[in-house]
Amino acid sequence: MDLQTRLADIDARISDAAVSAGRAATEITRIVVTKFHPASLVRDLYALGVRDMGENRQQEFSAKAAEVADLDDLRWHFIGQAQTNKARAIRAAASVVHSVDRARLADALDAAPAPDASPLDVFVQVNLTADAGRGGVEPTEVTRLAEHIAASCPTLRLRGVMGVAPLDEPAASAFARLAAAGERVRTVVPDAGWISAGMTGDFPEAIAAGATHLRIGSAITGPRPVHG
Ligand SMILES: *Cc1c(COP(=O)(O)O)cnc(C)c1O
Repeated sequence: MDLQTRLADIDARISDAAVSAGRAATEITRIVVTKFHPASLVRDLYALGVRDMGENRQQEFSAKAAEVADLDDLRWHFIGQAQTNKARAIRAAASVVHSVDRARLADALDAAPAPDASPLDVFVQVNLTADAGRGGVEPTEVTRLAEHIAASCPTLRLRGVMGVAPLDEPAASAFARLAAAGERVRTVVPDAGWISAGMTGDFPEAIAAGATHLRIGSAITGPRPVHG
């Protein structure tokens, strides 16, 4: 299967899952995660109409974004663990950051001026695993972090919650916890109704659980290229 066929195939499955869940596919943003793939893949996807792309490592992200800076209306979603001292580089190229999981990172992103002074859309990343060392704020701390962003980070626009389902649990129950965390965020910021959830292996479950943003990599991009 070529790229165009894989993309069409996933979009058809997204539509099917939306219909099954009684939702409109138009309210779901499908982000193509291009990590490990060259900038040429971003151009190929762009030519097929893709405008939302995702990356999870700052160095690779910054380099790739610079290589395709000529593409109009491309929205980059930063979805990976972010070091505070990389906040400026991330903000310089990202339209959306999905992985805000601590106040210090929110502060650093807020303090890094956007090139065009536009606000930055952010998600609070929620740790859905039992391992506190994994990325994401603990579910019990979500409200506090949302309050911090709303009160102290005027250049950030809190949009909702993001999560990665653990491997040792049915995705549906993990995504139900994420949706519940999203409800707590909405007690702080009522219109922060976005939910970033769903990858290659679990996007139908994420759509059933209300996901508004899917982060899909390998099912569309194909296997990762081998690095020398
Ligand atoms: C890589 C990645 C994805 C996409 O994963 P696939 O299984 O290839 O679809 C989604 N979210 C995050 C945070 C990732 O790092």
